[in-house]
Amino acid sequence: MPLKRKQNCVRLNPDLCPHCGAYLDAATDAEKVEALPTPGDICLCLQCAGICLWNEDMWLEKAPPDFLETLCPGHRSLVERAQELIRTVSRTAEKRKAQH
Ligand SMILES: [Zn+2]
Repeated sequence: MPLKRKQNCVRLNPDLCPHCGAYLDAATDAEKVEALPTPGDICLCLQCAGICLWNEDMWLEKAPPDFLETLCPGHRSLVERAQELIRTVSRTAEKRKAQH
């Protein structure tokens, strides 16, 4: 069965994750396809699952340590589930690398 490619991310100005230094140049909205981020939006790094926020100049900054507690339960749950998914995928990728 052929793979299907979905274009559901937006290309962004290249930036580095303020948590791990990963090169980030694209983002996918959790709710709307091809929605553009705006200042104050949350961004999760796909390498380390670190929580970042877009600043007024659209550069990524680390979210404050207590940031999750400031979110409503629904958004907090969404962020935590996404972080767990990212961490699971990262662990799986590391295991696969170790096997080759
Ligand atoms: Zn990162």
